[in-house]
Amino acid sequence: MLYAWIDGMKRPPLAKGESTVCRDCGGLLSSVIPVENVRHWRHKAGDCDPWSEPEGPWHLAWKESFPENSREVSLNDQATGERHRADVLCNAGTAHASVLELQYSPISEEERTAREAFYRQGHRMYWLVHVHDGPSSFTGWNFKASLNWGARPIEIDGRRYAIMRWMGRSNQFIEKWKRAKGYVFFECETYIFFLAGDELTRRMNGGLPLKRGEYALSRWSREDFIRSVQWDGGA
Ligand SMILES: [Zn+2]
Repeated sequence: MLYAWIDGMKRPPLAKGESTVCRDCGGLLSSVIPVENVRHWRHKAGDCDPWSEPEGPWHLAWKESFPENSREVSLNDQATGERHRADVLCNAGTAHASVLELQYSPISEEERTAREAFYRQGHRMYWLVHVHDGPSSFTGWNFKASLNWGARPIEIDGRRYAIMRWMGRSNQFIEKWKRAKGYVFFECETYIFFLAGDELTRRMNGGLPLKRGEYALSRWSREDFIRSVQWDGGA
């Protein structure tokens, strides 16, 4: 986790040897100041959020794009006692509450579904998925090679979309995100794209779902994306 309460402030660690207590679980936190990665807090006895993942500069930069009190907010399911820390939670307790999950590393379908079931209770949910090649995947390359704004452009609800076809041997990546229940955004080389969900794509496609490997994207600015998560102006 990048932020913790210390001396009345919620902040990243400033120095080696700092320690504090996690407000979510009461566990001891100690500062980690890596040479090449971002400063963060480490639970001595293991993170209280089992969904916690290693975080880098990408996570930090996005969290800092949102107000301080929206970053790393813990949510507790009263019924089950389950507790998780949303990367970003805006408008907590209001009708416009939203959770943003920042996803850098690949995530299994099971875990994605579990996170959606948890965070979508009382919140709009957004995914921001960083698209890049992995040690044994060409997801970033395939994503870029598949971008095709000319083939099947469509304007709907005042936004321009295009229906594209995934290039590459496996379309598992795109099919998995097409099945998501939250709003899915991809970030690839600083560009942000919205992946149209099933309902929207059916409106584009005469009521029918898109074929396997087909998907519809629209380009968004960072500002529009942040505004949408924060519900500024009802975007
Ligand atoms: Zn904790």
